[in-house]
Amino acid sequence: MKKLKNKLSWSSSRQGKIDNCLRLYYLHHYGSWEGWLGESMADPKRRLYVLKNLTNQWGWKGIVFHDAMEHFLKASQHEVIPKNRIFAWINKTMRKQWTQSLKKSIRNDPKNNVTLEEHWNGRNGFDSVDYRDQFIEEVQQWFHNFYFSNMCHAMLDRKAQWKSIEQMNTFMIDKVDIWVKMDFVWASEKVPYLIVDWKTGKRKKADKNQLALYALYALDTHDDLTPKDIRVMDVYVKEGSNEYEQYPRFITTSLSKVRFDVKKKIIHMKTLLLDVENNVPKTIEEFPMVSTTASAPPCRWCKFKEVCHG
Ligand code: SF4
Repeated sequence: MKKLKNKLSWSSSRQGKIDNCLRLYYLHHYGSWEGWLGESMADPKRRLYVLKNLTNQWGWKGIVFHDAMEHFLKASQHEVIPKNRIFAWINKTMRKQWTQSLKKSIRNDPKNNVTLEEHWNGRNGFDSVDYRDQFIEEVQQWFHNFYFSNMCHAMLDRKAQWKSIEQMNTFMIDKVDIWVKMDFVWASEKVPYLIVDWKTGKRKKADKNQLALYALYALDTHDDLTPKDIRVMDVYVKEGSNEYEQYPRFITTSLSKVRFDVKKKIIHMKTLLLDVENNVPKTIEEFPMVSTTASAPPCRWCKFKEVCHG
């Protein structure tokens, strides 16, 4: 098999790790590299690679919801999909993954199995099916909220204007790949390029910055678009609102500021490297732990807790 190169890139989630804890960033992006080649948890890289692929209850529900939306939208391109079909899909998927998680199946095949940090660390009572059923109901409720929203009706009425569903793309800033994953892109009656992000958590200030990054991607990859052609919106499915917020049109200066901010973050990311050309990090000691207490956030819920705190 051809050896993969650990190439330097930037994304909002990568930046989130840098902001949260530099040790977390190191373990996730460097310590676990090539861990897929190891065969047992005794191999430190393999162990980090397995831990890196753990999720938690909030991350898991979000991933299942996004997958359910992708499944729903792709199938809706060809036929009318009743709500109950997606409910059944969510139920089946989450029951299967819950079983994988209880068995900690991620140890054997991290890429094709789900394991929750709560099961991995044996959190008290978390193996109860009551939790599982509650999570399934929550994700189904989010889908219900979307399914009966005006937006869903508008989208289904305008299938010819759909541009992409759950697409991962890159563009470049200062010769570094910038990763973006846009949940849904379409054109509405008045907007040529409308980017939509499904949100399963609470509102955060950073949400809007992430969408601005998507707008930069759109401008960099579509010569026919100008800032005024692009609109972005977050859809907070938990809130069950029928009126989703569409952010104001971008202006060139606000997008230039986003580009400038990313450039600054890339410069900082490079200062963490010994060899920028080959993306070789400085020693682990240069990536300090954010806390020495396992029970303090963010360590409390961190995937790498057992490595840092024993
Ligand atoms: S356990 Fe704490 S110190 Fe260790 S990587 Fe996670 S957040 Fe950082």
